[in-house]
Amino acid sequence: MTRTQVTIIGAGPAGLLLSQLLRLNGIDSIVLERRTREYVEARIRAGLLEQGTVDLLIEARVGERLERERLVHDGFEMAFDGLVHRIDLKGLAGKSVSIYGQTEIQHDLDDAVVVGGGDVRYEVLDVVLNELTGNRPRVTCTHRGKRLEIECDFIAGCDGYHGVSRQSIPSDVIRNYERVYPFGWLGVLADVPPLSHELVYANHPRGFALCSMRSATRSRYYVQCALDERVEDWSDDRFWDELAARMPPQYAQRLVAGPSIEKSIAPLRSFVAEPMRHGRLLLAGDAAHIVPPTGAKGLNLAAADVRVLYQALIEYYGGGGTTLLDEYSGRALRRVWQAMRFSWWFTSLMHRFGDDPISRKFQVAELDYLTQSAAASQTVAENYAGLDFKPVPTAACAHGGP
Ligand SMILES: Cc1cc2nc3c(=O)[nH]c(=O)nc-3n(C[C@H](O)[C@H](O)[C@H](O)COP(=O)(O)OP(=O)(O)OC[C@H]3O[C@@H](n4cnc5c(N)ncnc54)[C@H](O)[C@@H]3O)c2cc1C
Repeated sequence: MTRTQVTIIGAGPAGLLLSQLLRLNGIDSIVLERRTREYVEARIRAGLLEQGTVDLLIEARVGERLERERLVHDGFEMAFDGLVHRIDLKGLAGKSVSIYGQTEIQHDLDDAVVVGGGDVRYEVLDVVLNELTGNRPRVTCTHRGKRLEIECDFIAGCDGYHGVSRQSIPSDVIRNYERVYPFGWLGVLADVPPLSHELVYANHPRGFALCSMRSATRSRYYVQCALDERVEDWSDDRFWDELAARMPPQYAQRLVAGPSIEKSIAPLRSFVAEPMRHGRLLLAGDAAHIVPPTGAKGLNLAAADVRVLYQALIEYYGGGGTTLLDEYSGRALRRVWQAMRFSWWFTSLMHRFGDDPISRKFQVAELDYLTQSAAASQTVAENYAGLDFKPVPTAACAHGGP
């Protein structure tokens, strides 16, 4: 039997960031990951970080390369009906966002955890969580052919939407909220200069499109597609033609096409599991919630959960009791639902939902209103750049508990 203080399931950004922050504060953990390190590092996903996420990565001492290489954006653009409206994040919300790929964050975290002597076990199979409501939870698994049993004080479920942690919570104590959208995003990564210095979101009668980037020389572009479409049906030429057709003409003209490095289709869903704690199991990141990527909130929410969770564990191990642990679910869910609401709203505003002409008229009217109203633009800017939360009184944290 192996013993640690916190067993962390999943070595994605949530799991590794938690492990790193705990280690810096003298708390032991073992991270169990199903895949290889190379596989996890190569997954092309998020790229836009709120300042709160950047601050937490700096606090975790993995911010050096991030601060050097990130692109800082003070705004983004929304294109519709031949118009382009810029949301001035800096001017309206007093904040910027940073572009730095999840692949790079994963790489920086992996290096820091391994160099710092952290314990990450890759290629772990058959993870089972036991005795979650007792004082000594245990995790059993197979690691490279050998059976492993870990006894710990807490289990952090950071194993994403398809992981085992959430599924280990009895169905009568967890409630799932879900909305599946009737379309997906076809994403292409290419070593071509980005269309614009800032992100450009387009609402077009043919469907949504987004021109994003990972660096000054690498672009990440998306077009809305049907759920039953296959990547093989999208040649690079077809993708570039479709993206150009959805951009305003002055932008389409300067779009630089090139061979795709990666091409994939992601479905869009809103999903929240409540509460985020069951006994000694605490869920964080995609294990507890999924947002459609339109608002770029997924990774930022995972980091926000980790901030609340590691502070609660520091309080516990510092002899300060379980108040923050008891409040974990409620505090985390408060931010989660705000990000859920914004991501749903932004998705609803920018995508094509069938052929109903009045829906598009409503969208264009709302976008037009954004161009006219500083208050409306400020609402978008505050949510996109990341909300600040004032502390809530304990009584308001009604979710969770052992
Ligand atoms: C196309 C796309 C674009 C996105 N863009 C953005 C963006 O711009 N900004 C943003 O903030 N977010 C974005 N996101 C979301 C973001 O990528 C995720 O929210 C983020 O990866 C969540 O991190 P996590 O650590 O919680 O989960 P994950 O990254 O999913 O990590 C979970 C880990 O657990 C492992 N695991 C699963 N099951 C088990 C098991 N049984 N045993 C052991 N290990 C297990 C998995 O292999 C994985 O490594 C995007 C996502 C997609 C798909």
